[in-house]
Amino acid sequence: ELMVVANEIDKFYPNGCHALKAVSATIHRGEVVVIIGPSGSGKSTFLRTLNQLEEISTGSIMVDGIDMYSKSTNINQLRQNVGMVFQSFNLFPHKTALENVMLAPLKVAKRPHKEVSEHAKALMKRVGLEDRMNNYPTHLSGGQQQRVAIARALAMKPDLMLFDEPTSALDPEMVGEVLDVMKGLAKEGMTMAIVTHEMGFAKEVADRVLFMEEGALLVDDTPQAVFDNP
Ligand code: ADP
Ligand code: ADP
Repeated sequence: ELMVVANEIDKFYPNGCHALKAVSATIHRGEVVVIIGPSGSGKSTFLRTLNQLEEISTGSIMVDGIDMYSKSTNINQLRQNVGMVFQSFNLFPHKTALENVMLAPLKVAKRPHKEVSEHAKALMKRVGLEDRMNNYPTHLSGGQQQRVAIARALAMKPDLMLFDEPTSALDPEMVGEVLDVMKGLAKEGMTMAIVTHEMGFAKEVADRVLFMEEGALLVDDTPQAVFDNP
């Protein structure tokens, strides 16, 4: 079952930068796809087109069977189905970790408070922070904040999770705890697209690796084929 079908997408930024060139790729449900390539090759742009943080110039994208660019598509609804984790954690500083996780389900999805609270607590446990729920972000390490950001993205019960260099802003000793949470999600069958420079993680966890260069998708293959060939 196809979760994402990107067909011949091109992206021009308003300044003329041709960031994506005829990129076609698919992601099946339950698959973990890692996107690699040099800085400026379009990885982040590609990821951001999958929840329409960036609009594409030409081509088409289907997510969960829905054409993102059809006039009848409710883009907000589609976005709720796609969780995203950024390099910078962007937690609300005046809210506790748990409140950060509860915010979107309460305000955007308008789910009942008790249900949201129980789900959020379970998610905090799942990312290993059940004893940090009432901390404010400034009283959490970078690795802990990023795990809260993952819990926050999961709180909307997404079918697809996007990660844009989730460990790049972390001190080295905190990278592992975030990658471990992501490995756990992969094992549970979450569909994920991940931009990362963590090649060990890609080798271990990815079902497929996409290699981009200068806006083009040059390689789409298994980690074995990508990393083990001379
Ligand atoms: P990567 O994630 O691989 O580092 P990006 O997707 O961030 O690559 O960038 C791809 C290209 O698009 C780069 O040349 C970058 O400078 C350009 N770019 C990214 N964002 C913008 C923007 N908002 N406006 C103009 N150009 C951009
Ligand atoms: P990354 O490689 O992590 O994407 P960048 O430095 O390429 O980081 O981009 C940081 C921010 O600046 C992003 O929001 C991106 O969209 C924007 N950006 C990147 N290149 C350009 C550009 N040439 N013009 C305008 N904005 C840009």
